[in-house]
Amino acid sequence: MNVTEYDISHPYTAVVAESERITPEGTDEVRHLTLNISSATFNYLEGQSIGVLVPGPHSFGNEHHMRLYSIANARQGEDGNMAEISICVRRCFYIDEISGEKHPGVASNFLCDLRSGDQVEIVGPYGRQFLAPKDSACNLLMIGVGTGIAPFRAFLKHIYSERSDWKGKVRLFYGARTGMDKLYLNDKNDDLANYYDQETFEAIEAFSPRPHFDEPADIAGAVRVHATEVWAMILNEKTHVYVAGLSSLEDQLDDVLADISGSRETWAAQKQELINSHRWSTLFYG
Ligand SMILES: Cc1cc2nc3c(=O)[nH]c(=O)nc-3n(C[C@H](O)[C@H](O)[C@H](O)COP(=O)(O)OP(=O)(O)OC[C@H]3O[C@@H](n4cnc5c(N)ncnc54)[C@H](O)[C@@H]3O)c2cc1C
Repeated sequence: MNVTEYDISHPYTAVVAESERITPEGTDEVRHLTLNISSATFNYLEGQSIGVLVPGPHSFGNEHHMRLYSIANARQGEDGNMAEISICVRRCFYIDEISGEKHPGVASNFLCDLRSGDQVEIVGPYGRQFLAPKDSACNLLMIGVGTGIAPFRAFLKHIYSERSDWKGKVRLFYGARTGMDKLYLNDKNDDLANYYDQETFEAIEAFSPRPHFDEPADIAGAVRVHATEVWAMILNEKTHVYVAGLSSLEDQLDDVLADISGSRETWAAQKQELINSHRWSTLFYG
């Protein structure tokens, strides 16, 4: 990511109100961080991200190490508290291809190590291409993997808690490696289960194919099982589609939707129609 693309000239100091691990021990660590931003003056909408500036010194002479994190709460603040904002962070590691050594990702480890009362510099918010429609009769087809659930948590809180009139169908296809890795939907934190009794909402889970837990979650398989409903939604002019997570997800979806629609050409034309009418939005992490 090129930090020069983002205006980071007006950082705000946020204070960690809470850091909660939301995955059980024995699987990847993902934390839900609640930040007090009472000193900040910005407003934000669901689907936007904040930047986190990690204090230096940094290797390779970089002055700033800035990384983006999706805001995981709706516009009226975490649990309706405007002074608080939340993000969901996976502790990342990477393997150096030459030495084979395992290195901690800079920003994600910095954030996962923060505890209540610690300070963090944030910038933004950024991105306006991933917003819930104003018309409450619209259908939402959300497809996400891993921490890509964060903007959908914000969407769901907005439409079901801040707006009580949502009439459109909401379908969340959510992929994780295992049941333990389902964020906001596991034994440790089941925040999103609150919406299961909403008539318009249904969550559909997908996992990595056993025993190959390092392979991507089988979102395509889950979409295939619900092919008739998914395709009917996609053809409906009132449906908005959102895709969030690792960029490999787009290829998986292109393949399965080409199959469901009958051909690559049919899907390509339909996807273009969704893009042209601003009903296809993606938020990829690389
Ligand atoms: C719009 C957007 C929203 C995002 N939202 C979230 C979110 O909600 N939650 C979340 O957890 N993440 C999110 N991300 C990803 C996040 O911004 C970071 O990319 C992620 O946390 C890793 O950052 P890091 O500083 O920990 O790792 P880094 O230190 O940047 O390392 C990450 C990767 O960089 C490469 N790398 C870096 N340094 C080296 C090196 N010296 N040698 C070899 N390879 C190297 C490796 O491939 C490694 O995997 C989002 C990204 C975008 C673009």
